[in-house]
Amino acid sequence: MKTQNLIVGQGLAGTLLYHHLTKRGARCMIIDDDHATCASAVAAGFVNPISGRRLILSDDFEKYYAEAEATYREMERTLREHLFEPKDIVRFYDSFTEQKNWSERKDRIKSAPYVKSFQPAGLYRRWFHDPYGSLVIKGHICHLHRLLSSFREQTGPDHIVPGAFDAARLEVTADGVAYRGIQAKRVIFCEGFRVTQNHYFAKLPWKHAKGEILLLEHEGPPLPDKIFNFGKWAYRASDKTVRLGTTFYWRTIDTEPSEEARREILARAETRIVFPYTIKQQYAGVRPVLLDLNPVAGLHPRHPRVGILNGFGAKGVLRGPHAARQLAEYLTEGRPIDRSINISRFNI
Ligand SMILES: Cc1cc2nc3c(=O)[nH]c(=O)nc-3n(C[C@H](O)[C@H](O)[C@H](O)COP(=O)(O)OP(=O)(O)OC[C@H]3O[C@@H](n4cnc5c(N)ncnc54)[C@H](O)[C@@H]3O)c2cc1C
Repeated sequence: MKTQNLIVGQGLAGTLLYHHLTKRGARCMIIDDDHATCASAVAAGFVNPISGRRLILSDDFEKYYAEAEATYREMERTLREHLFEPKDIVRFYDSFTEQKNWSERKDRIKSAPYVKSFQPAGLYRRWFHDPYGSLVIKGHICHLHRLLSSFREQTGPDHIVPGAFDAARLEVTADGVAYRGIQAKRVIFCEGFRVTQNHYFAKLPWKHAKGEILLLEHEGPPLPDKIFNFGKWAYRASDKTVRLGTTFYWRTIDTEPSEEARREILARAETRIVFPYTIKQQYAGVRPVLLDLNPVAGLHPRHPRVGILNGFGAKGVLRGPHAARQLAEYLTEGRPIDRSINISRFNI
C-alpha cells in the first residue's frame, strides 16, 4: 500500500491533521490502537474564553477561536454530525465579596463581552448549593467522542489501520518510510502523551498532566443543559447522568483511575451538589503538555521523514485546529510554521 502521510494516533491531533491534509489533496493513512490511551476520548471538550478567579480573558481565545469554530463546522459538513455547539458556563460565585468585585469591574475588563448575565442566588437550588448567585459565560463544547467515532466509521478500513504501532518495524530512509507493507513519504506522530516512548521526540521538554472524570447517575429532574463551574465542573451527559471533573496531576502519568482524584473531585462536589447520586464510572486520561504550554508541529531536524503534531495540553479543542492546519500547509505547500508552535524552537 502506498500513501503520502502515515499518521500514528487518531486522537484529536491525528484526526485534525488527516482532515487538513486530505482537504489539500494529500493522501493519508492512520494507525491507531483503538484509542487505548486516548485523552481526546476522555476529555470534556469545553472551550472557555475566561480563566481564573479574576475572570480574565484567556490570551489565546481571540487568536484561535474563529479558526477552531470554522474547522469544526467544516468537519460537521464532511462527517454529517453535530460536533460543536455553544454551551453556557454557569460559574458560581464563592462569596458576596466576589460578586461585588465582579460587578465593580465588569465594565472595564476585556472579558466582559463573553459574560452574558448575572443570575441570582438559588436559581439552581434543585441541583446545587447556590447561595451567592452565578455568572453566565459564553462557552462552547466540542463532542470529541462523536468526532473520533464518526471520523473512524466514515474514513473506513482502507485509511485507518487498527493496532499498536511497533516502532521496531519502522524503516526510515532518505526517500521515505516503510511500515508493515505501507510505503509513505513520511510518518507523523500524533501519539498524545505516549510520545515520551518515542525516541525521536522523547527529549522535548514534556510536562504531561493527568486528569480524571467521574460519571454520576442520579434520580430526579435532569440537570439543565449547561456547564456548571465551581472549581470543578459538572454537566449533563444524559437525562440521568452527569460528568464531573477534573484534576491536574503531574507526578503519576498513566491512564489508571485513582482514589486520590476521586476523593479530590468528590470533596469539591460535596460543597455544591445537593442531588443524590451514585458513581457509575471513573475515567483517566493524560493531557500531552510541553513546558511552554504551546503545541508542537513540524519535522524532526535530523530526520526529515519523521514529523510530529502534539502538545495540545488542556486546550486541544481551541488550539488543535490552528496547529494542524499549519503543519498541513507546511507539508503540502512549504509554508512556514509559526515560531510559537514550530519544533524548531527546541534543540533536539
Ligand atoms: C480529563 C481531561 C479533560 C480534558 N478536558 C478538555 C477540555 O474540556 N477541553 C479541551 O480543549 N481539552 C481538554 N482536554 C485535553 C485534550 O484531551 C487534549 O488536548 C487532546 O485530546 C490531545 O489530543 P491528542 O490527539 O494529542 O492525544 P490523544 O487524544 O491522547 O490521542 C492519541 C492517540 O494515539 C493513540 N496511540 C498512541 N500511541 C500509539 C501507538 N504506538 N500505536 C497506535 N496508537 C497509538 C492513542 O491510543 C490515542 O488514540 C482534557 C484532557 C483530559 C485528560
